[in-house]
Amino acid sequence: MTANSPQVAIGVRVFPESIAKLQAAGFTVRAHDSAQALQGADLVALAKGANSLLVSASSRVDAALLEQLPHLRMIANIGVGYNNIDVAAAQARGIQVSNTPDVLTETTADMAWALMFAAARRISESERWLREGHWQGIALDGWLGVDVHGSTLGIIGMGRIGSAIARRAQGFGMRVLYHNRTQLPATTAPNATWVEKHTLLQESDHVILVVPYSPQTHHLIGTSELALMKPTAVLVNIARGGVVDDVALAQALKSGQIGAAGLDVYENEPHIHAELLALPNAVLTPHIGSATKRTRLGMVNLAVDNLLDWHVGKIPRNTVS
Ligand code: NAP
Repeated sequence: MTANSPQVAIGVRVFPESIAKLQAAGFTVRAHDSAQALQGADLVALAKGANSLLVSASSRVDAALLEQLPHLRMIANIGVGYNNIDVAAAQARGIQVSNTPDVLTETTADMAWALMFAAARRISESERWLREGHWQGIALDGWLGVDVHGSTLGIIGMGRIGSAIARRAQGFGMRVLYHNRTQLPATTAPNATWVEKHTLLQESDHVILVVPYSPQTHHLIGTSELALMKPTAVLVNIARGGVVDDVALAQALKSGQIGAAGLDVYENEPHIHAELLALPNAVLTPHIGSATKRTRLGMVNLAVDNLLDWHVGKIPRNTVS
């Protein structure tokens, strides 16, 4: 098998037009047709002999799996975060890896805001109560939330998505604090102030996490960080499971250490810590940060474009290292 006879294994259901584009370019396509992404031995069985692989963030591609796929030369990840792939192990085997930045930035920023609003204004919780038939009339002291407009927003991870979240804050008259390892030039982050993580946690009314998952960001928010936050604070995790210690967060939400949380990602997803599931002040969505038709199609098409680059001998446009 060479790059001239491309064979791609697709580990999760994608759009028919994306498959057609690969076929039109000469790829032989073996596609899994289920929303539940293939894992482990099932992924190996599909990808055996293929020289390229298209996967989503739900498929774990580690060194042990790569060892069983000696023909593999290219992995196109559908997603900007690629912590599902052992990139070092892939590179050691001469396998290129690509991701899909930019196309999902604005849609994911929208979702961070949706979670912040839903948690701050108790939207899920009050809707459940209404549907259960409890509503008897407006109570002036009922369902009180916290304001988003005019408050202080703290963003941990002021990259592409973090910056898009910050831009939206201007319209709501918010003061924006951010924390990265690298302080950005004022022109890159206008209207936002870099502060140390502990200052951000102490001063923010709403904290949004949007860092990549890595050993450095594992449990970036745990018991001691939650203890720094305001008792009314809202925490949003739109980044990756594992950036937050979910056990510590459940405890903080239960005890009133913080006010509420909006979560799109979890440790061990799709399994969710039972205490989080039971908490009324946690708004929970099933990793849908980029889930609009236009954006998901854009992500798959960009992953396909990376495969096409590789096929014609170019460096894929979104190579990661
Ligand atoms: P990006 O442009 O690379 O931005 C990441 C930011 O995180 C950078 O500003 C980086 O700055 C900062 N960062 C990295 N490590 C850090 C650390 N240890 N402490 C503090 N800041 C750190 O990435 P992006 O496109 O905005 O995407 C960010 C992440 O969002 C992705 O990796 C993905 O996991 C997640 N995501 C989730 C969804 C979803 O569906 N929920 C959708 C899209 C993306 P420094 O390097 O200067 O620290």
